[in-house]
Amino acid sequence: SRDRRWEMRVTAISPDLAIANLVDRTQHAAAERMRVDFVANASHELRTPLASIMGYIETLGEEAGEEPVLRTRFLKIMMDEARRMQRLVEDLLSLSRIEADKYRLPDRLVDVADLLDEVCAELRGSGRARAADLICAEWDNLPPVAGDRAQLSQLFHNLIGNAMKYGRSGTPVTVTLKAVPTGLVMTVTDEGEGIAPEHLPRLTERFYRVDAGRSRALGGTGLGLAIVKHIAERHRGRLDIASRVGVGTTVSVTLPATG
Ligand code: ADP
Repeated sequence: SRDRRWEMRVTAISPDLAIANLVDRTQHAAAERMRVDFVANASHELRTPLASIMGYIETLGEEAGEEPVLRTRFLKIMMDEARRMQRLVEDLLSLSRIEADKYRLPDRLVDVADLLDEVCAELRGSGRARAADLICAEWDNLPPVAGDRAQLSQLFHNLIGNAMKYGRSGTPVTVTLKAVPTGLVMTVTDEGEGIAPEHLPRLTERFYRVDAGRSRALGGTGLGLAIVKHIAERHRGRLDIASRVGVGTTVSVTLPATG
C-alpha cells in the first residue's frame, strides 16, 4: 500500500546464483524517522538556551556590563539557561546508557522499600516547594526485586518529581508500595490538572509534552517518562498511567518478583 516501503534485497548464494527478496522496510523507515526526529528535537532543545546565553554574553560586553543590577540579573538568567542545558544533557546521557544496557537483565537484589524511603527523603530535602505534601506510606517486609538500584532510583525520582511538578499546590502527592502475586507495585498519585486521554499513549515518547511551555517553566526536559519507560522495560516491569482531567493522575509501576 501507499504507506509501506519495500526494498529489494539481493543475496549472492554462489558466483552464478543470487536470490532477490522483497523486504518490507516500513518498520525500518519508522525507526529511522524517529531517530532523525530525536536528533532534530534534541538539537533544537539545546540550541534555544544556547542562543539565549550567547545573546546575554553579547549584551554584557556592551553598556549593560557596566550596570551592576543588570549584570546580576543577566548572570542569573544565563545560569538558569545553562542549568537547563545541563539537565537536558544529563537526561540524554541517561537515556543512551539505559538503552545500551537494554539486553542485560539487572541482577542485583534491590530493597525497593528502602530505596523508595531514600528517594522520598531526597525529594523532601530538595528544596522544591510542596515538600510538606509528599506522603510516603510506611512499608515493611516486602521481598527484594532483581534490579539496578541507580536506575530504579531515577525511575522513582522522575515519577514522584512529575507528580510534585504537575500536582496542584496545597494538595498531597501520595506514594504507595505493596506486594502483589506478580511482584511489587509502586503507585504515585497527585491531585493535579490530569492528562486528557488523547495524550496518554504518547507520554513516554521522547520530548512529548502536553504543554511544552509549562513543562519548560517547571524545569522539565520532556525526557522523564521516556527514561521511566526504558528503565521499566529493562526490569521487565510494566507502567500504567491513569488520569482524569481536573482530578489528577496515578502512575503505577509493577516490578516482577524474583524467581
Ligand atoms: P517533562 O520533563 O516535560 O515533565 P516527562 O517525560 O516527565 O517530561 O512528561 C511528559 C509530559 O507528560 C509532561 O510534559 C506533562 O505534560 C505530562 N505529565 C507527566 N506527568 C504528569 C502528571 N503527574 N500530571 C500531569 N501531566 C503529567
